[in-house]
Amino acid sequence: MERQELTTENVLATLPGPLLAWYRENARDLPWRRTEDPYRIWVSEIMLQQTRVAAVLGYYARFLEAFPSVEALANAPEDRLMKLWEGLGYYSRARNLQKAAKAVAEMGGFPDTYEGLLKLPGVGDYTASAIASAAFGRREAAVDGNVLRVVTRLTDCHDDILDPRTKKTVRERVQAVMPAEAAGIRVFNQATMELGATVCVPNGPPKCDACPARDFCLGRIRGTAESLPVKKPKKARRVEEKTVFLLLREGKAALSRRPDSGLLAGLWEFPNVEGALDERVAAEAVKAMGLTAVEWKNKLTAKHIFTHVEWHMTGYTLSVSGDGPAEWEWVDADGLEAHAVPSAFARYYAEAKEQMKG
Ligand code: SF4
Repeated sequence: MERQELTTENVLATLPGPLLAWYRENARDLPWRRTEDPYRIWVSEIMLQQTRVAAVLGYYARFLEAFPSVEALANAPEDRLMKLWEGLGYYSRARNLQKAAKAVAEMGGFPDTYEGLLKLPGVGDYTASAIASAAFGRREAAVDGNVLRVVTRLTDCHDDILDPRTKKTVRERVQAVMPAEAAGIRVFNQATMELGATVCVPNGPPKCDACPARDFCLGRIRGTAESLPVKKPKKARRVEEKTVFLLLREGKAALSRRPDSGLLAGLWEFPNVEGALDERVAAEAVKAMGLTAVEWKNKLTAKHIFTHVEWHMTGYTLSVSGDGPAEWEWVDADGLEAHAVPSAFARYYAEAKEQMKG
């Protein structure tokens, strides 16, 4: 039988059969794939936003051990939640998880539709589709970066994937070819993502020889796959200079709490001020905090990269006398561990532990 000519419009219809057969043979065994429990799937999806699978595995296990149900998460003390999230970054995800858990607990269970899920804090288009399909067998296409890459290569689509219209078109195209029965629906999104994560990879050339779509992929046939997807260059990150003070007094270090909104809201940090201060100006800043410098110990620089901003930090370690602002806390090594200090301050955190040993 003569095969129908492949086009951008019809090529995706060929995908589901070979893709699902490949997935059954090749899928990585990940804990959130062994469940249809919306709570467990939801926690995994939130953790996997912006974070690699390998980094999530340990956090996922510890988190579910601490909070085995949506009610347990809803009632968790915030400090405990933040402590378990420490190091994963993007802390607003943890806060939104708890807000959403409270809403779900109040409703008596998870909404079972895309539209219902979308109303939960921290749940966007992609996450709502991923949960609706994997937990409830709803025919909703979940489109993340992996899926965008696979689909633009398969269909030889050269539209800018940072343009929301491209994502919308891809979503519509994928949804049109999703399997009709629940068993296929539950794994189809995962299978497309898995193909993007392990075969049609983001860095380096796609592994077309191992791909179930190799015979009909337009990007491979036309030789364009490696130049896809098209992404317009992103704006450069804003650089913020900061001076961080690791203030030590009688075996304790000073911590202050970040404001309740904005970047790293509500977490603990070493006191810091805007700008890269030299030692003379830094000494004045210490005085202005109500402290007397007893001994300047060292100067440590560090850099931390967030999505839209980069912190360039100059840090001073010094022993002081005086109390500083009333809202600060002076903590010993155990106290430091009990506070959620974001990884942006990792270098100073390590130094504080080192100093408190001696
Ligand atoms: Fe990607 Fe190659 Fe598979 Fe096409 S054949 S989807 S380019 S890995």
